[in-house]
This record gives sequence, C-alpha cells and structure tokens, in this order.
Amino acid sequence: ATPTAVMVSTGVGANNGVLIKGGDALERAQMVKYIVFDKTGTLTQGKATVTTAKVFSGMDRGEFLTLVASAEASSEHPLAKAILEYARHFHFFDEPSAIEDAQNHEKNPKFSGWLLDVSEFSAVPGRGVQCFINGKRVLVGNRRLLTENGVAISTNVESFVVELEESAKTGILVAYDIALIGVLGVADPLKREAAVVVEGLRKMGVRTVMVTGDNWRTAQAVAKEVGIQDVRAEVMPAGKAEVIHSFQKDGSVVAMVGDGINDSPALAAADVGMAIGAGTDIAIEAADYVLMRSNLEDVITAIDLSRKTFSRIR
Ligand code: ADP
Ligand code: MG
Repeated sequence: ATPTAVMVSTGVGANNGVLIKGGDALERAQMVKYIVFDKTGTLTQGKATVTTAKVFSGMDRGEFLTLVASAEASSEHPLAKAILEYARHFHFFDEPSAIEDAQNHEKNPKFSGWLLDVSEFSAVPGRGVQCFINGKRVLVGNRRLLTENGVAISTNVESFVVELEESAKTGILVAYDIALIGVLGVADPLKREAAVVVEGLRKMGVRTVMVTGDNWRTAQAVAKEVGIQDVRAEVMPAGKAEVIHSFQKDGSVVAMVGDGINDSPALAAADVGMAIGAGTDIAIEAADYVLMRSNLEDVITAIDLSRKTFSRIR
C-alpha cells in the first residue's frame, strides 16, 4: 500500500470511530489469527447489576447490605459499584439520586451516616476487598479470597454459588469475623452485538478466545452464550499478557480487545491492541486501536479496513 492509501484508510477508520495509531498497526490487523477478548466490559456491557442477595447468617437483610456496601465503598471495581447501588436502592428506593450520593455520602447530608466506618481497607487483586468494621474483619470477594483467609464455605453456600455461576452470574461471598454471612449474585449482560461479531470473525478465519479474572463456571457460561470455545478463566491481572504470549509462540499474529486497567499489559503485549473507547485511559493509551463507539462490530471494521488496504490493493 502506498503512503497515501494508508493515510486514506486511517481517515476512513477515524470517520467510523476507529482510531488507528499509525501505519504499522493498520498493516498488522490484516494478519490477525487470534483475537483475545476480555470478558467484563468488553464482551459484556460492563454494567453489573446485583440480582440476588442471600443472607446465610441471622443478620438482618438491611444490616447485611449496609455492611457489604461499606466494605466496597472505597473500591473502584464495577462489582463494587453494583453492590453500592443495590444497597442504596434497598435503603432509599424512592430517592432519585445517583450512586455518587451514596459514595460521597459525606457531601450529601441526606445520605450521611448510612455507611459504616471502615478501617484498613485494601483491594486484593483478582479476589475482592478486605477491611475492618466494628473491629471485625470483613471480606467481600470470590471463594479464593475467603478460603485464603480461613473462612469455611458450607456445602449449602457452595451449591448456591454454583447455581449462580451456571446461570452466568458472578457469586460474591461475604464474611464477617471469619464467618460466611451471605452471598450476592451479580449479572452483567452481553453486548447486543457480541455473538454476531464472534460468528463474523469465525467466518473471516479469525479464532476467538475469552480471558477473564472471573471464575471458570461463570466464564464458561458467558463463553457459551457468545459462541467462544477457548476460555481462559481465573487469570490474575498480571496473567493476561502471558495468555497473549502463549498464542504468539508459533509466530501467530494476536489481537487483544479490552477495556480495563488489568487489560493494558495484554493490550501492549498483543500485536494488535484494541481498546474499548468507553474503557479506562490506561487501556486506551496501551492500545494501537481505539474503538470509539465501544461497539464490537468495529473489531471487524478494523480488520476489514486493514485487509482492504494491504491485501487486495497490492
Ligand atoms: P475481571 O475484571 O476480568 O473480572 P478482576 O481481577 O477485576 O477480573 O476480578 C476477578 C474476580 O475477583 C471477580 O470476578 C470477583 O470475583 C473478584 N473481585 C475483584 N474485585 C472485587 C470487588 N471489589 N468486590 C467483590 N469481588 C471482587
Ligand atoms: Mg474488562
């Protein structure tokens, strides 16, 4: 392709909301053999919603939700936002205010005081959050977080979590003073176009893979819905780039599509990194392409554009 053709194609991309950072990136996309998709916020809408909250201890439901929301109040994770919103709705269901009111409760006298005082908060990557409330340790996260901290998970609770996961939901376990007190189920629906795009890529001869920090059962349920066979689940934040490298070993050209801070090392490691426009700045910086409309159809647009620029016009 001539420099003019590259320039024209870059302009065509921009007009369609596909920002391409340079001619090399435009050229590499035509050769992509594998596309690795992040799950949350990339294949899914990234709008997690709590669908179930089950208290397993004698604790009052409102108390339970206040405790969990307080523990999650300092977390930036989409799951934390969903939990806060759910708890806020439970307590103030008729208040039209936004979730920020709950999170910045000091600033809004109406909501002041509903969240409990938290000390020693920390986010545990790939696991959840931990803190102290009323001098007792509170853990909110996946099985791994709880078992690593010596919390026993009864068969009763385990089968409830399995049931959530088999219906593509993420189970969030809550422990207070090293005892399991409840479980929340969070759903994050697929983007409307996700399955069609996966099928379209298959027809184009591109193999699709899903990578996620979420648990195996949920990951597999989501992958099945979207039509992806190759799943890598329970991947720690640092592990996504390793997944990319494993596909590159035989010289294959690998693309990564992601939106999160967690995805940025993988976006940088990929031959073609594509960031979701609605994603985090760090992901956008690490990528070669930015899909401004946050629509997965633009993954196909990008590959088509590259193929048209470099393969056909030789
Ligand atoms: P991903 O964004 O790919 O799902 P993460 O590493 O962010 O991966 O999270 C992995 C898992 O850790 C989540 O599916 C969830 O089970 C748990 N987790 C992470 N952060 C939180 C949080 N703030 N609250 C509850 N669970 C969390
Ligand atoms: Mg994501």
